[in-house]
Amino acid sequence: MTAPLYLAPRLEHRLTSLLGTKGFLHQLAGALGSPLNVVLPDQIADNLRRFQEVYERRNLSGKVYFAHKANRSSALVRRLADTCAHIDIASLGELRHALGSGFSPDRIMATGPKSPEFLWLAARTGVTVNLDSADELETLVAIVTKHQLPPARVLVRLSEFDSTGATVLSRRSRFGTPVDAFSRLLDALERHRDTVRLTGIAHHLDTIGLTEKATALESCIALMHECAARGLSPHVIDIGGGFGVNYLADSAQWETFTSELSNAVLGSRPPLTWRNHGYGLRNEGGTLRGALGLYPAHRPLAGPRYLDELLGLQAPSLSRPLATLLLENLHELYIEPGRALVDQCGVVLARVLEVRDNAGGECFVRLEMNASDVSLEEHGVLMDPVLVPRPDRTCPSTGPVGVYLIGNLCLEADFITRRMVFLPHRPSPGDLLTFPNTAGYFMDFSADHALHQPIARKVAAYQDGGRWRWCLDENYWPITSGSEDC
Ligand SMILES: *Cc1c(COP(=O)(O)O)cnc(C)c1O
Repeated sequence: MTAPLYLAPRLEHRLTSLLGTKGFLHQLAGALGSPLNVVLPDQIADNLRRFQEVYERRNLSGKVYFAHKANRSSALVRRLADTCAHIDIASLGELRHALGSGFSPDRIMATGPKSPEFLWLAARTGVTVNLDSADELETLVAIVTKHQLPPARVLVRLSEFDSTGATVLSRRSRFGTPVDAFSRLLDALERHRDTVRLTGIAHHLDTIGLTEKATALESCIALMHECAARGLSPHVIDIGGGFGVNYLADSAQWETFTSELSNAVLGSRPPLTWRNHGYGLRNEGGTLRGALGLYPAHRPLAGPRYLDELLGLQAPSLSRPLATLLLENLHELYIEPGRALVDQCGVVLARVLEVRDNAGGECFVRLEMNASDVSLEEHGVLMDPVLVPRPDRTCPSTGPVGVYLIGNLCLEADFITRRMVFLPHRPSPGDLLTFPNTAGYFMDFSADHALHQPIARKVAAYQDGGRWRWCLDENYWPITSGSEDC
């Protein structure tokens, strides 16, 4: 075998402690089945605090909205309701869930395209509506008028920001109103000023590019003046989410993997992936073409640090730090982190069913789960699972093995990941493979009932006087945790 190419996950103390409780994890999976999702509600409160520290350091006022769509868990949302966080919901179901989890309407914002029913419940309860389009504004106005509701507080979501330096034009988006059409939207907002109150302008760019985000933020600051000139008085700029997560512990492992993947695609080393899949790279007559379509899994500038970096950047045309501009104009800053707020907040457990070798010397580990139960591959995130052997078993001294992880769907394509995964030793049936740091989008965003396979149950795990305890996700209420000072 070639030298193992690990992509070790970055684990903070809470996840490290949980993964060290082998007996506890095996008991859980034994009782509740495989796959099993475990969420860590106390971690989300810690993550919130780190974002709030950026606000404090920069003297900014504003609000942190958790983008609920990153995870369906009740425990995470209820734990967050017990802090000073706010929540961003994107469906009628998420709105009901947030209200029922303890978020009062003044702490909720509705984003994304909305149905009339969704708009009615938002307006009826007094939730802030982040308007996706001019049509949505008209629907909301009609609902507020017909049902004689109090004026709705709205933000408008904009897209397609033009950079003045002609370098970046942010990519087209299916969401929001193009900046070009902002004036017309303001006409409508002026017309409807007794039914809707404009409190701010928003954007959410699905990119990791800091310059694109700086351009969008500076544009929003300029547009606030246009609103004021019309006699509207928004005070909020909402820069959305997309702060990202650093998944890997070691930059060298990531660099080695990506360069060895290129070599494998070019045929100068044995394949690292099933059928030498290139994740976007291809070999054209000995030349490497294409672009690596993977999340930059080692990403030290992520989460709160990314926010801080963005705020410290010079505004592209005004050449002053963005944080200073926000502060001088007394704008409140809203953010909507999803993935970054659930960093280190969960793990997916799966039981090993079978370990088999084929005639070509390849080793397959069949798990009691499928790719939709841990959709790392679909989201382009490559990181190693952690092997948790059965507590009663002495680990074989086989040394590291490279294996392919396959799922429980009778499909040739049911790979958990197409990458060869290196494990410290050969696993056995009954061992657990744990996929850490999967609370953001991977554990339940895509899960379904193909072949009548069960969807993972979800439990909340928390520490109580040094001991790990658990309950079903739906039974978790934050009455055991201390509440936060706001
Ligand atoms: C998905 C989404 C987010 C969260 O994005 P992350 O990358 O998970 O931080 C925030 N705001 C809106 C409008 C979204 O659609």
